[in-house]
Formats: sequence, C-alpha cells, structure tokens
Amino acid sequence: MAEFPDDEACLQWLWKTRLSPDGKHAHCPKCKAERAFKRYAIKQQRQSWTCVACGYHLHPTAGTIFHKSSTSLHLWFYAMYIITSTRCGISAKQLGRELGVTYKTAWRIFNRIRYSLADDGSPLTGKVEMDEMLVGGIDKNRHLGKRLHGKGHYMGKKSVFGMVQRRDDESQARVVAKVVPTPPKSGDVLRHVRRYVMPASVVFTDESRFYESLNTMGYEHGRVHHTANVYVSGDAHTNTIEGFWSLVKRGISGVYHNVSKKHLQSYVDEYAWRYNHKNDPRGHFNLLASRVAHRRVATERPSSRP
Ligand SMILES: [Zn+2]
Repeated sequence: MAEFPDDEACLQWLWKTRLSPDGKHAHCPKCKAERAFKRYAIKQQRQSWTCVACGYHLHPTAGTIFHKSSTSLHLWFYAMYIITSTRCGISAKQLGRELGVTYKTAWRIFNRIRYSLADDGSPLTGKVEMDEMLVGGIDKNRHLGKRLHGKGHYMGKKSVFGMVQRRDDESQARVVAKVVPTPPKSGDVLRHVRRYVMPASVVFTDESRFYESLNTMGYEHGRVHHTANVYVSGDAHTNTIEGFWSLVKRGISGVYHNVSKKHLQSYVDEYAWRYNHKNDPRGHFNLLASRVAHRRVATERPSSRP
C-alpha cells in the first residue's frame, strides 16, 4: 500500500519497468528510434504515453495480464500481493472477499496471475528425483507405482509427473511438474525428462516401468524398490519429490477442494513456484511483479490511436 498507493503508482511502475527506465524516453516502434515520450491529459482509464516526434502511443499495460481488464491496476497489484503472501494458497472465494469483487472477477484475476507463475523451463541437472502422483477421485492420492488395480484405479483421477533437482540445502531444491495423460504411458513421462533433465544427470525413481529406458537415454539411474518396502537406499530415494507432492495434495484438498483437469497444470505451477522461490531474497511479490511486467501474454495490441 505504501509502495503502490493508487492506480497511478502502478501505471508509472509498469511504464518505467517495461518501457522507459528514466520515465521520459522509450523506444518508439514507429520512429524505430529512442524518443522522448509525454503524457497528455486524456479521459481514459488506461493512460498512454505519446511519442513527441510522431504521435505514437505506448500503453504500459499492452501485452500484460492487466491489458483490457476493467479491474483497476491497484486492485490487480493488491491481488498479486495477497496471492504471493499466503504460504499455502488462497481460494478465489477468499480472494474475492479481500478485494471486494465478485467471485467471477476474483477467479479471472487469480487465473491470469496463476498463469504467470508457470515455470521458465530452465533444465534440471545433478541429482534429480522423479515420480508421478494421482490427484482427485475417490481412492485419492495414491502412489501410482504402488497400487495398480487396473483401469478402475484411475477413475476420475488426474496424473502429474514431477522432477526435482536436489540441493545440499533442501530449501534450494527446484521442481518441475507437468500434468500427463491418465493413465500415463512411458512416453508421456520420458518426453518431459528429455526436455527438462540435462543428459548425464543422476536420476532417482521408484521401480515403476515408466523409467526402464532412462539408462539408454544417457542418464545414470538409481531405483528404490517401494514394493519391497525399501524407501531409502544410500542416495537412492524419492523423498524430496514426495515432499513436494504432499504440499500440492494438502493445497488442493485443503484450499481448492477439487481442481478441474483444464486448470490442474496452473495449480501445479502455483505450488511449484512457491516451492522454487521459498527463499528468494527479492520477495515473492517483487518476483511476481517483475515476471508479470516482462512476460508477454497473448492479447491483441491496442490501436496506436486513442
Ligand atoms: Zn515516434
């Protein structure tokens, strides 16, 4: 509230962060050069800056999640603060109460912010644990590898595959988690391994058949035999990824109750983001704000004329 007391402060911040570090000059796409930009008093909710040479308008919110939203910027920033300051998540209903907006509006805001939390996809290396989790359904949250009761086992459930890079300091571990088809096939899982885990990494899994070809893919592969009740064998364990699953499960059942398949990935991304940045010195709000400022979202460009 002190740093962003009103809409104007939020807009100025976006202008400087995204387009004009000194607040006065920016690159004009029409002049194709650095130009001075001015603000003219106009009655418009989303103010723009105008190139003094050619009259081109730059909109600091264009291409961001705030673009064309009827919710005030100040409320958006407040929503980002609330979402990043809760430790285990908040429901859209609760968020709506905090912001004083309808459930529908809160849900839309939340959804857009959550999509900004998706992992940047930088690869994992060193010692990497991987595992799958089932979410939802009646017989819920059972470990895939442990109980396979045929097709019925997967009724109403969704599968998530996760990879976590261990660190000596466990709080520095980094996770990537992806929704995969249910029941997952080996190919669904290995596709993500290939994409996110650097070759020559040491990978740890349980004995599930998904992982049989990891050796031939250039990874050093250690297995734990959960069916034989072995959970840790030297370095071979999957405790780190299981710790992450328990966070996600607690969140989904405690805060969100149930999650549709369509949105599961973004819920998982939210928890992965919290997990990966738990000790980030920049603080969660600043981290999210800078991500939102620098990540372009698919929105149509506003016309350059007011
Ligand atoms: Zn210009």
